[in-house]
Amino acid sequence: MADSPGTRTLQDRLERLRELAEFTDDCKRQLGDMFDSLGWSQDHTQEAMEQCPYDAGHRVPARSLEKHKASCRLRQMGYSPEEQAEMYDPSVCYENSSVKSFAMDKPTQHQVILQARSAAPLMRMEGVFWQGQYSGQPVDVPQNHKRAVCDLTVADRLALYDHVVGVVRQQEAAASSANDDLYVDLVSKLQKDDGQNEPKTHLELMAEMRDYKRRRQSYRAKNVHITKKSYTEVIREVINVHSGELARQWREDEDESSARSERSSQR
Ligand SMILES: [Zn+2]
Repeated sequence: MADSPGTRTLQDRLERLRELAEFTDDCKRQLGDMFDSLGWSQDHTQEAMEQCPYDAGHRVPARSLEKHKASCRLRQMGYSPEEQAEMYDPSVCYENSSVKSFAMDKPTQHQVILQARSAAPLMRMEGVFWQGQYSGQPVDVPQNHKRAVCDLTVADRLALYDHVVGVVRQQEAAASSANDDLYVDLVSKLQKDDGQNEPKTHLELMAEMRDYKRRRQSYRAKNVHITKKSYTEVIREVINVHSGELARQWREDEDESSARSERSSQR
């Protein structure tokens, strides 16, 4: 008499369990052999993974998280990989440079647009932007020209331009008085162009520039008072006199050096 179906099923199951256990043991052995022949260690520790803040489905190794975040953020903002490839970080151009830069962020951008909007007329008016021409909702800061044109209105862009130029002008005015730069640049330029000059000549030159600056300042101040010249006219005149002074200086240097070489050739 055959076993009852229940007993057979149980035996089948035990048999299957034994086969599977053998199979996994075999796999373990094979893997062990493979690791041994490759010289690898089996106690591999998983690299720490971090969650991407822009997509819950992204788990990224901690060391590449920053890079991933930058690119994932742009992707979420709708920039294609081609557009991303064309983007460069220009901040390096402003390091060690006197050129001022301004980094726009989304809240500042929105604030500037809102301010310009509230100052604009409520209804359509000829010749000025009215409130309907500004963006009402916060817009992501455009990362390329196409998006700047598409995402921001003409009125928005003018408001942002005015804001950035205003801020940078304030910074520049606070940083230095422009006239001093003019004279400092001149002397350093002379030093650079005329590297073979003896130290004595440089000192003389510096003293000369200092005296000249004093003369120039007193003259200019009186002149503006009397004739009410525009700023541009005054600056143009300063540059003219400056250029003349420089030309004279260089001519003297040239005469000096040619006289010296004549003397040495006569010997
Ligand atoms: Zn991501």
